[in-house]
Amino acid sequence: MEFELWWLLAFPLFFALGWLAARVDIKQVVTESRALPNSYFRGVNFLLNEQPDKAIEAFLEVVKLEPETIDLHFALGGLFRRRGEFDRAIRMHENLLEREGLAEEQRLRAMSELGQDYLKAGLLDRAEQVFTRLLDTPQHGVARTYLLEIYVQEKDWQKAIDAARILEKDTHKPLNAEIAHFHCELALLEAAKGNPDAAGKALAEALKANRQSVRANLMAGDLDAAAGRHEAAIADWRLVETQSAAHMALVVDRVLGSYRQLGRLPEGVQWLRALYARQPSQDVFGALYLAVSETEGAAAASQLAREELRRSPSLRTLDRLLEAQLLDAAPGERELLQVEKGLIAAHSQRMMRYQCGSCGFKAKQFFWRCPACGRWDSFDPERREAEN
Ligand SMILES: [Zn+2]
Repeated sequence: MEFELWWLLAFPLFFALGWLAARVDIKQVVTESRALPNSYFRGVNFLLNEQPDKAIEAFLEVVKLEPETIDLHFALGGLFRRRGEFDRAIRMHENLLEREGLAEEQRLRAMSELGQDYLKAGLLDRAEQVFTRLLDTPQHGVARTYLLEIYVQEKDWQKAIDAARILEKDTHKPLNAEIAHFHCELALLEAAKGNPDAAGKALAEALKANRQSVRANLMAGDLDAAAGRHEAAIADWRLVETQSAAHMALVVDRVLGSYRQLGRLPEGVQWLRALYARQPSQDVFGALYLAVSETEGAAAASQLAREELRRSPSLRTLDRLLEAQLLDAAPGERELLQVEKGLIAAHSQRMMRYQCGSCGFKAKQFFWRCPACGRWDSFDPERREAEN
């Protein structure tokens, strides 16, 4: 390429254009910033100095002085809700809704935000009203998701089932595991009202929605056992192993109980030994240990505890081993063993917990739905020793 003289003129021209463009931008920024009240800058300053409370007060002033700052309204409203200041969040979004000339899209967004404020504040009736009004609008997807959450919190299981079915069609996201739980919840209510037949039908619906519903088989077993049909109960419970082997930890005590009722406990112990070989866990061990010490004596139980302690060392198993040794101990050793066992038992009892795999919430009781984060099937079915 040949060098042409006019390039020498072109370079300074480009610099001049760039400088001009920069000046225009700066001018524009300065003009815009002059239009904003001082409180805005004070707010930003507070934010930069990590003083969020003072920043909020400054931004609130901006909102009062400049009602056109709609995005700031939304940002503050959302912030108040996240901080748990529901009254302020509700006022923010109600103010927006009362404004004349608000664009339709923004009005619907403000309604959706207000519905979420009510939901978080536990005002379920009001939240339900707001989201129901949004069902015929472009916000219907969000509205139905929150309505489902409201029905679950209200324990209105039939409405939850209907809402989940529509949501499944809308979003193409399967909700069959949740729907099976809703049917199981209906079954629980029917069983509590003394309607085992209706409860049985609800459980059949649960399995229709989700063939892998462990809970449905577990509850079907409970219904059969309560009616004295122990053979059928054992069959229901043993099906759980084909769905989720880990959930057998929740089932073993029930199976043994029914074998005991049938007068066939040794058969149950035999089954449990085989299960323990396939699916060793602390909870399965715990049930097996008690059954073995009852049917085969302290020596067999002690042997079992030693094996488990080697497989998975835990305080609970050590407690079992001391218990078995205590039965055979000489009178002189017994007192010390008793003290040791007491200490370890108290400690291990305090530590054994079920835990939510989603949010880490720990509980003594097993939950199908985490009481902390609201997720279904997030609890590990096996208890573990937890530090706190
Ligand atoms: Zn959780």
